[in-house]
Amino acid sequence: MTTSLLDTLGVTVPSTVPTHWYNLAADLPSPCPPALHPGTREPLTPDDLAPLFPMALILQEVSTERWVEIPEPVREIYALWRPSPLIRARRLERALGTPARIYYKYEGVSPVGSHKPNTAVAQAYYNAAEGITRLTTETGAGQWGASLAMACALLGLTCEVWQVRASYDAKPYRRMQMETYGSICHPSPSDLTNAGRAMLAADPETTGSLGMAISEAVEAAASDPDAHYSLGSVLNHVLLHQSVIGQEALAQLDTIEESADVVFACAGGGSNLGGLAFPFLGRNLREGATTRVVACEPAACPSLTQGEYRYDFGDVAGLTPLLKMHTLGKDFVPPPIHAGGLRYHGMAPMVSHAVELGLIDAIAVDQETAFAAGIEFARAEGIIPAPESTHAVAGAIAHARAATEAQTIVIGLSGIGVLDLPAYHDYV
Ligand SMILES: *Cc1c(COP(=O)(O)O)cnc(C)c1O
Repeated sequence: MTTSLLDTLGVTVPSTVPTHWYNLAADLPSPCPPALHPGTREPLTPDDLAPLFPMALILQEVSTERWVEIPEPVREIYALWRPSPLIRARRLERALGTPARIYYKYEGVSPVGSHKPNTAVAQAYYNAAEGITRLTTETGAGQWGASLAMACALLGLTCEVWQVRASYDAKPYRRMQMETYGSICHPSPSDLTNAGRAMLAADPETTGSLGMAISEAVEAAASDPDAHYSLGSVLNHVLLHQSVIGQEALAQLDTIEESADVVFACAGGGSNLGGLAFPFLGRNLREGATTRVVACEPAACPSLTQGEYRYDFGDVAGLTPLLKMHTLGKDFVPPPIHAGGLRYHGMAPMVSHAVELGLIDAIAVDQETAFAAGIEFARAEGIIPAPESTHAVAGAIAHARAATEAQTIVIGLSGIGVLDLPAYHDYV
């Protein structure tokens, strides 16, 4: 099939899964401020993280190497759904009457329907390689828990997940998905950890938060020598693993001789945004390309547009390292919006740093606007976007509507929304 026919069909696919992850740290004009030890407030050493993470991931966390080779077993699992498609949204373009060309990079094709397995598989692999047998984690809406549960099943680990109470009650299908993969899922706060018991004592009716669930999962891992903790967003190594998204998108656009003028991605902890956008920023920084990147966050949890840029904890109990990031404060409990994956008080330090440097712009999108955009997208393109992804769609739709000249827009469609249909139903 020729390139032009593929372009006509609206789908482009590069021939291979990337061989290396891309690390933006190698190209940044100034280094990202380091994580600090919560007790001493000195920069973290690899040994500080050793109780929680395998050494391979700790070294990736502080690496400034541009390219990190992807282990072959990880690439083999990636090949189940990667490269993910880059699709031209011709019907959406027509519906909007825009002169812009709109493409979306669709991560909903993974087995759990989001981008999160890109890092879950890598993390499970490195933990298994270092002899760990059990992983603990937290999850909000459940996509991360389901992703790690799948990765652990494929790589022979057991997995225990603390799920934010609001989502545990509202989204039982994710829990069933985790259990189908053989994982255990607890509502958080739970009475299984000191942190959880303290939070329940303070507020027995709490609907939970990611910060609370992180405290519980970290405590559970720290007290078991065979267990490690796994985080689905925010950290440098997570964004590194997600860089397969942007590398593929660049290659796919190159194949059809397109270049992106503007990229929209939703921002919760920053991993799908970083994964899609950092390879584009790398090209901007190294080769003078001028792709603009727009982070789309929920107005109800606006860390980039309203938060302070300062050191803060990743969790409520203050057990994690201090991270320099845009934060609403570790005790911020966002309203139970439908986009559970965007309810985090902080933002990836690498994304925060890039925003401070003026490399990324940020906008806040309210829930109504996001759902309206999700429905418009579904009716034009057939795919029902995850509630998180609708924020990126809304940003792109507003931009495309206002466009007066031809340009290329890329949307990070981080996941599919079929397990979130009750949220769409509430909106309709
Ligand atoms: C978890 C999730 C997000 C938000 O997390 P990021 O780390 O900001 O990417 C966005 N979209 C989907 C589909 C998710 O599952």
